[in-house]
Amino acid sequence: MKKRRHFNPVLRIPVLMILSLALVLVLFSCLNNHQKKILMDLGYTKVEIAAMDELGLRDELLKKNLYSDSLASALIQKSVDTKHLDLYYLHSNLSDTNLFVTDEIILINDKLLKYGYSQELINQLLENLSFREMTPLLVFEIMGDVTPYIEDVIEHRQENEGQFVLSNDYLKAYENPKTVNVALNELMLVNKKNQLPSGYTPLDLTMISRGCRFSDMSAAAPAAAAFEAMCAEAKNQGMILASTSAYRDYDYQKELYDQMVQSDGQEVAERYVIQAGYSEHQSGYAIDFGSLSEPDVPFAQSPEYRWVCEVAASYGFILRYPQGYESITGIAFESYHWRYVGVEAAEKINASGLTFDEYYKLYIEE
Ligand SMILES: [Zn+2]
Repeated sequence: MKKRRHFNPVLRIPVLMILSLALVLVLFSCLNNHQKKILMDLGYTKVEIAAMDELGLRDELLKKNLYSDSLASALIQKSVDTKHLDLYYLHSNLSDTNLFVTDEIILINDKLLKYGYSQELINQLLENLSFREMTPLLVFEIMGDVTPYIEDVIEHRQENEGQFVLSNDYLKAYENPKTVNVALNELMLVNKKNQLPSGYTPLDLTMISRGCRFSDMSAAAPAAAAFEAMCAEAKNQGMILASTSAYRDYDYQKELYDQMVQSDGQEVAERYVIQAGYSEHQSGYAIDFGSLSEPDVPFAQSPEYRWVCEVAASYGFILRYPQGYESITGIAFESYHWRYVGVEAAEKINASGLTFDEYYKLYIEE
């Protein structure tokens, strides 16, 4: 008979513990490999899975059981915004893989949420439009059904390279205006939706120097100084730049508007003159430029205009009503109307390709 072997009872418990631990480790490793295989079958790489684990996202992403190339690329770049995982998945369902979740997409998503849009409506916009096609909504503040807007944008998509033409009016000028935040100084937004406080006068109005103006006119001090510097440089280059209009008070703006309504009718007046209280000229930060070297040709055809387009941003000025953006600005192309916003903002606005109205809503408004 074989002699029965007995474990030393003192050793029995630690051995069992070690065996259980080994079993747990084996099970854990199996589970881990199984999960990794699911994620890799979906399309994620090992590096992406490691990044996922660093963010503690593995369980959530397993539950989704979907691959998002936008998310994969954000994982690699370590730029995942974990509060907006649904946006990455929204994009994974789209045929157009150019629609990646970028900082811009997250920004506009959150702005629209703040404006009262439901996530469902925003998703509908994201599914159909690009970032650039959505930014005008911040100015329009359309609520409710966004389908007509989406259809309008898509209809004009082919022709809207470098412009933004729409068939319908979404701006709704002068309806439910907000009060301009004048504390922002050169970054304040004054347009047909944002009214200056009644009786507003800039505190630092400065007369523009004689050689740089057609007649007596003043502007907010930084705008006047920047314009004079640009005017001096124009002279060095053999051109003569002069302001044809700058600060205008409420009453004068009203006079201009009424005159234009009388001479050209309301419809034309609305395209070229802003109603009193809504004009940037009353802020002191807008200057109309003119050419004295060729005073008889429209400013847009003067050598000064071509030069100003090149250099204005480096003096802090932007073209406020560019060609093709009337649907957003509410004003037809004005080659002569330039707005002082400071050098940094001017360069950023130009680089963004947005109108100041949109740029303000995205990046300046709190
Ligand atoms: Zn003007």
